[in-house]
Amino acid sequence: MLQRKFDKIVQEHYPNAMDAKDTSIHYLGLMQNDHNINVSRVLMATSVCSDDINVPSTTFFNVLFGPFILGGLGGLPFAGITGMTAFAHHIPDEGTAFIFYGPHIGVTHDGELGKMYRPRQEETGNSCGALMLALSRLQDENYKPTISENDYQQMKLEESLLPYRNEFVDSENPQKAITDTAYKIIDQKVHEYVKACKNEFSVDKVALLGGVVINTDYGLDDYFDARNFQVVDLKSL
Ligand SMILES: [Zn+2]
Repeated sequence: MLQRKFDKIVQEHYPNAMDAKDTSIHYLGLMQNDHNINVSRVLMATSVCSDDINVPSTTFFNVLFGPFILGGLGGLPFAGITGMTAFAHHIPDEGTAFIFYGPHIGVTHDGELGKMYRPRQEETGNSCGALMLALSRLQDENYKPTISENDYQQMKLEESLLPYRNEFVDSENPQKAITDTAYKIIDQKVHEYVKACKNEFSVDKVALLGGVVINTDYGLDDYFDARNFQVVDLKSL
């Protein structure tokens, strides 16, 4: 019952979002049928936020090997070129690489974005915590993140968001807007790192699926708003 209620709430904000099961069936089907990818020889990498709530989202694709974890706070691929290179070296022979990436955002059954009820907690909490913290800091126009080795990922996340500040602070829904901005940053970096590491892959194809993971209540399916699905031919890069 509650799952169906979430269907409606999620559709209002993200009309194209699909639940976890539909997402995995749809994209595994596309890989297999339209792109001739043998899904039993696919290694997955993820670039999603470290948040524990995202662990079930990456099991969307639990028939695949992996995941190789590229992501850190906010979903940025903090493992960088070295991480992408290592991932490239781990692909099964005659196999395919698959990268699932994007930020996440919670939604409550009252339709509030950026919040969610976490396991065994009475009150709502932020989701994505890293992005919502960045938002609260960047709402002060004088705020400048200071890179620190003890808070490296959060500071780098805020530094990456800073040039796009105007896109989200004045938006009608800043929580949703900062998540969209984070998606753009992650998407750019994933493409950049794949290109930089193209000669490290022993296979020809890398499948990419990027979008926004939408977290609902604990125990209920997450949703995924796909923004990019492509099979990159590494020889053409
Ligand atoms: Zn997060």
